[in-house]
Amino acid sequence: MKIYRYPERNAWPDLVKRPVMEQKEISGLIRKIFNTVEEQGDSALIEFNKKFDRAVTPQIAVTEQELENAADKISEDLKKAIKQAKENISKFHNAQIAETEKIETVKGVTCWRENRGIEKVGIYIPGGTAPLFSTVLMLAVPANLAGCQEIILCTPPDSSGNINPAILFTAKLCGITKVFKTGGAQAVAAMSVGTESIPKVYKIFGPGNQYVVAAKEYAQRYGVAIDMPAGPSEVLVIADSQAVPEFCAADLLSQAEHGSDSQVVFITTDFKIFSETIEAVEKQVKKLPRNELATQALDHSVFVLMNSLEEALEFSNLYAPEHLILALEDFEQYIPQISNAGSVFLGNYSCESAGDYASGTNHTLPTNAYARNYSGVSLDSFVKKITFQHLSKEGLKKIGKTIEVMAEAEGLIAHKNAVSIRLK
Ligand code: NAD
Repeated sequence: MKIYRYPERNAWPDLVKRPVMEQKEISGLIRKIFNTVEEQGDSALIEFNKKFDRAVTPQIAVTEQELENAADKISEDLKKAIKQAKENISKFHNAQIAETEKIETVKGVTCWRENRGIEKVGIYIPGGTAPLFSTVLMLAVPANLAGCQEIILCTPPDSSGNINPAILFTAKLCGITKVFKTGGAQAVAAMSVGTESIPKVYKIFGPGNQYVVAAKEYAQRYGVAIDMPAGPSEVLVIADSQAVPEFCAADLLSQAEHGSDSQVVFITTDFKIFSETIEAVEKQVKKLPRNELATQALDHSVFVLMNSLEEALEFSNLYAPEHLILALEDFEQYIPQISNAGSVFLGNYSCESAGDYASGTNHTLPTNAYARNYSGVSLDSFVKKITFQHLSKEGLKKIGKTIEVMAEAEGLIAHKNAVSIRLK
């Protein structure tokens, strides 16, 4: 844990740095992986499964039988939970469907936008250290609502060459039938260039470790779009004197347990809450099954005492956390001061895991300070908006002169003629 008491502002830029690997350290590896997948297709993926996931997978595509059998391998309780989460996520994302509004900018000139689902999308489901079947819901639900026609899913196999049945069950529940056993950069490469089994897609979604993030960035050279850089998880908690140290500690650990490269930040103005939260973290971490990963993440976690909540919010905006928790009595008062955050949790009972699983919001969110310029995944991420316009003769007459004058001034006489020829 790194502990800072009332740090000077000029020290803040160092405190907000993430423990990420230098991009150049992995970019050579990513290029090599893309080249190998492009040249050798499925056989490259089979080799990478052996190398990185210690898995023997004679075939990359999950069979219909494997998908079918998954339901028998998970408990009824888990099925029920997944269905309830799906319902809430559907409700929240369905409300994001906007009605098409036709705007008459001038009499006879009508403009509007229509949404079209991106035809082919690929979703990446992390599976390295935890099988994130919840991410299937977060990506497949909005993809379906958006009307995407082909949705494929890639996720790493476990060491026996299988995909976690909860991932398969959730995929089937969401109508995804094309599931592939491949993870990391090679999965992103396969969805970008296509292989014998895996179709090339137009946009790749989903979080992952630093190899996945770097590969998604590289994929853009192949003309593939990506949702955003969604890498190792982070949470920043701001607490006042009424916060509950045990709750804050549990929230911090819920992100720390994701992986050794996760980062958690705790800020308070109250010394008692500060020391009690650190104590609670030390106590709770010992009891976690993923104690080792969480402890490694805590090594680079940041605990800060600050003079005021205003200052804490300023620090948070500079850090731009993926998840921000305001464990504050008057949280509403501070909402307008938030300018950079992926998703915000308000009050003592809004634990971050509610958003991770079941409240309805999306958990695929920008990390590594990208919340300064990216939003999390939403329905919009899966659609393109096409603009339409219709001009009547009367409408063209109304704006014709404007177009002619502007086109002539830009020296684009054919543009001008397209109006003049109609109006003469
Ligand atoms: P993962 O599926 O992202 O990565 C596993 C893959 O990484 C393996 O299949 C392998 O191909 C590759 N890999 C591992 N070591 C490698 C090496 N040395 N060289 C090349 N490739 C290698 O699963 P994970 O590792 O458990 O990571 C999941 C990540 O997703 C975590 O960092 C978690 O914090 C993050 N996450 C982020 C969000 C978000 O919205 N930002 C949401 C959920 C999870």
